[in-house]
Amino acid sequence: MDNTENKKQPRGRRPAGQKNGERRNSGNQNGERKAGGSQDGSRKNGENQKRQNSGNAKRQHAKVETQKNVSAAVKQKKSGGGNGRKQGSSAPTVRIIPLGGIGEVGKNMTVVEFGEDIIIIDAGLMFPREEMLGVDYVIPDTTYLKNNKDKIRGIFLTHGHEDHIGALPYIMNDFDVPVYGSTLTIALSEAKLSEYPQVNPEFCSVKAGDKIKAGVFEVEYIRVSHSIDDAMGLAISTPVGTIVHTGDFKIDFTPVNGKIMDLNRFAELGKKGVLALMSDSTNAERPGFTMSESQVGETFVNYFRQASGRVIVASFASNVHRIQQVIDVAKLYNRKVCLSGRSMLKYVGVAREIEYLHVSDDMLINFEDLKKFRDNQVVILTTGSQGETMSGLVRMAMGQHAKVNIKTGDTVIISATPIPGNERYVSDVINMLYRKGANVINDATDMVHVSGHANREELKLMMSLVKPKFFIPVHGEYRHLYKHAELAGKMGIKEKNVFITEIGAAVELNKRIGQMKTEAVPSGSVLIDGLGIGDVGNVVLRDRKVLASDGLFIVVVTISAETGDLLSPPDIISRGFVYMKESEELLDEAKHITENIVNDCSARRTSDWSTLKNLIKKEISTYLYEKTNRSPMILPVIIEI
Ligand SMILES: [Zn+2]
Ligand SMILES: [Zn+2]
Repeated sequence: MDNTENKKQPRGRRPAGQKNGERRNSGNQNGERKAGGSQDGSRKNGENQKRQNSGNAKRQHAKVETQKNVSAAVKQKKSGGGNGRKQGSSAPTVRIIPLGGIGEVGKNMTVVEFGEDIIIIDAGLMFPREEMLGVDYVIPDTTYLKNNKDKIRGIFLTHGHEDHIGALPYIMNDFDVPVYGSTLTIALSEAKLSEYPQVNPEFCSVKAGDKIKAGVFEVEYIRVSHSIDDAMGLAISTPVGTIVHTGDFKIDFTPVNGKIMDLNRFAELGKKGVLALMSDSTNAERPGFTMSESQVGETFVNYFRQASGRVIVASFASNVHRIQQVIDVAKLYNRKVCLSGRSMLKYVGVAREIEYLHVSDDMLINFEDLKKFRDNQVVILTTGSQGETMSGLVRMAMGQHAKVNIKTGDTVIISATPIPGNERYVSDVINMLYRKGANVINDATDMVHVSGHANREELKLMMSLVKPKFFIPVHGEYRHLYKHAELAGKMGIKEKNVFITEIGAAVELNKRIGQMKTEAVPSGSVLIDGLGIGDVGNVVLRDRKVLASDGLFIVVVTISAETGDLLSPPDIISRGFVYMKESEELLDEAKHITENIVNDCSARRTSDWSTLKNLIKKEISTYLYEKTNRSPMILPVIIEI
């Protein structure tokens, strides 16, 4: 996923994490395994209730099946598990369990388990769907990992996009394990966690080619190309064979930093024999090859040369190579660069600090400096390529930016493709920009963006180099996984060896056979709203939907504690339902109905307020629906005096 900007600004950098090799709790690193891998086999009901699965039917299924699964795991341990042997089977087995990123683009997280050891690949978040009102982020349900805490040997990050690292702040309090990643990935993770001082994991920065021992596993980092620098694939050696995980990748023969993806290493692994390949499916529907990132730079050259006024480029802040190209072309045409947007400043800051972005101080100016230069001497590099409401570009287009207003003569380059769901917002921004007199260049008009994910020919190349026995398409909606699986079939991988899996469903592989388990481990989505992790569930979401669509209707009743009599006429407060001043008749009648109910109860000497509340709710709801065809949320408040 490319829409990976951080909404918050870090408060400051924390000291760099420990380097590879120096580990805090090394006891479990030298092959010594702690007994009792599952320290809490029982399912925690309270916790599960807070969590929300993607569908009711599915949740029911998962709940029932989960218990079975747990008891099976317990049995297995009694019969001497730990060598990866499943009960009733003689061959040692490795389990691959996706906890996110399957059937969706976002919140990537995969568990690889063998006997008493677990490693985790990525810990990402997803941006909420429109119907998840007020929810900031969605992260994977990690109950399965909490239940198997003692088995976890490390988290291995493939790259620094939010759909791969975004869940770290919300889960790292639960796990005391090292987090591995490349230099940029770790720098971005640290910057992210600096906003959460209570979360302080042990970060280990690794380079391409490094191999990390983690229980029975050894994890090797392999360079790939992607829309963020320092992206890596993983080769995981297990007792039953090597598993290759591509991470998000594309094959770029002319990457901006000159570091070409290590296709050789993938080929070497393929030659030695690879048990399973997990590969990025995002672009499995797209034919041919993706264009090189360098191509975008060439397009920039054209537009910068033609532009007579200011150039404004909107891009993903995380795409350091894209930012580098904007800066390089700006330099070529003697333009200074002004950065706009908090995430833009954050990513540029982090990337400069670790020298992944090369820009001299004199190239960068701030908004105050803009007036010192002529229009054809500046470039404004901003966020907002997805039409996000509060972003720099949108505020400039709406005339709400404190420093910059779009005007005739501006060239605006939107250097991104709208991610599905954002097309409407981006289109609105483009319309506004044209109205203000700007010349707008976007991906529909020219090559100002290339994807960071491999197209079909690249996916085929990967499969032909790695030559896996088993194939698991990952990172994609079902349609993408399906097309990728189909491609594997065309490449000669046997149908029974290709697994389109589901979140929570384990794929079990031994040297000869693989199977997908139909029982799911506990899994699903956890919703993050502000500081709350998982405290927004179905009930809260349903309430928010009612409030958003039909509003709120509060009936306040003041009654005597002694007699139960009404002490004053009922009061009505409503928001988002009807315009009160023009609805006197409606409100009067509602008050009248309420009075009757209270008097009735008082006559019957009822002191059960919940019955009274339910009666008010029911009668008022029926009345309002009859009159208005709307169903606001009705909230009876009873004050006893
Ligand atoms: Zn991704
Ligand atoms: Zn990515």
